[in-house]
Amino acid sequence: MNKGLLSVDEALQTLLSSVQPVTEVEEVPTLRATNRVLARAQRSTMDVPPMDNSAMDGYAVRVADLAKGRRLKVAQKIMAGAESKPLEAGTAARIFTGAPIPAGADAVVMQEHCDSAGDEVLVQKAPQAGQWIRRAASDVKKGGEILPAGKRLLPQDTGLAASVGIATLPVYRKVRLGLFFTGDELVMPGEPLAPGRIYNSNRFTLRGLGEVFGCELKDYGIVPDSLDATREVLRRAASECDVIVTSGGVSVGDADFVKPAVEAEGELLMWRIAMKPGRPLAFGRVGMAAFIGLPGNPVSSFVTFLVFVRPFVLRTQGLSAVEPRSILARADFDWPEPDARREYLRVKWNAQGGLDLYPTQDSAVLTSTAWADGLVDNPAKQAVRKGDLVRFLPYSELYW
Ligand code: AMP
Ligand code: MG
Repeated sequence: MNKGLLSVDEALQTLLSSVQPVTEVEEVPTLRATNRVLARAQRSTMDVPPMDNSAMDGYAVRVADLAKGRRLKVAQKIMAGAESKPLEAGTAARIFTGAPIPAGADAVVMQEHCDSAGDEVLVQKAPQAGQWIRRAASDVKKGGEILPAGKRLLPQDTGLAASVGIATLPVYRKVRLGLFFTGDELVMPGEPLAPGRIYNSNRFTLRGLGEVFGCELKDYGIVPDSLDATREVLRRAASECDVIVTSGGVSVGDADFVKPAVEAEGELLMWRIAMKPGRPLAFGRVGMAAFIGLPGNPVSSFVTFLVFVRPFVLRTQGLSAVEPRSILARADFDWPEPDARREYLRVKWNAQGGLDLYPTQDSAVLTSTAWADGLVDNPAKQAVRKGDLVRFLPYSELYW
């Protein structure tokens, strides 16, 4: 460990131990609950399916009848959604997928294994008891938990809730994420770029990340490099947000006003983190809002958002498991002179199922992040040789 540098894990621990999760719950239509975090476990008030039903188009029969002969009279026809009468011995019922199994029937023969002849059916292949019957409650039992509290609702979760008739779901209100971007050099796309100016790309990257993680965004735009302007927007953001995230102004240059502004309005810890990209990071509190100040370099702010802001926001949103799942993957590259800091390398899957490295790992080269499929989390001072297994964090695992 470098002297004076904090490890990623130490910084994360401090960050996460100070999370104050959102407690307000709102009831939203199940139709609009995808990507919200469930506040209370959901139980089923019914069996699914509610009755034994057919898994096939075919004929419902009594298996014992077919020991006597293959020809049965078709005594009724049962469509999905219809009611059935008991099946009399020696008869069959024409039945369709999802239709209720008539009392007395103990198997369904699929229509491909039957020949129909007038009001009779000739069963070609004797069924086994229970064949092609979906049993009542085989999917969900009445009273059983279908969704745990604290789960991020995926499309299939809302479908499951709907399948037991749940029309609205209690979810935590969205985390209010405030963003602002420091730097007199920043210009928005669409405006002319005077000499020495750069486009405010972080606004797009960080807003997009905030959207990915389901936040309600409060975007305060570009803030000039001045103490008063920075203090003013901090005060406003603190009254409107749960978490404030900023880019730039956390180094110790002349134009870095984030530190004094947060110190004047609240409390601040300045960290130098043993990671690359992204050494400087500020963490504190302004009023009721948590504050995380990211470095201005575009790759650094992207990576530090994923490493620190992501778990912080997700915990604030009520999720417990926020550690990203990694994959051990084969490096098809050499990284012979690693840094003394933990490195997050931009890499991409290749056609051989291994990982290629973006040739420039400079923290100002945003192209690397767009080219990549994810990040290799490489321990400090650890060289990578072609063929080594490395810890890969695909974007798909990091985006929630
Ligand atoms: P800073 O952390 O403010 O010293 O900024 C470090 C570097 O990142 C400088 O080269 C800045 O011009 C650049 N930078 C800062 N903010 C942004 C931004 N919002 N979008 C793109 N680049 C930025
Ligand atoms: Mg700056």
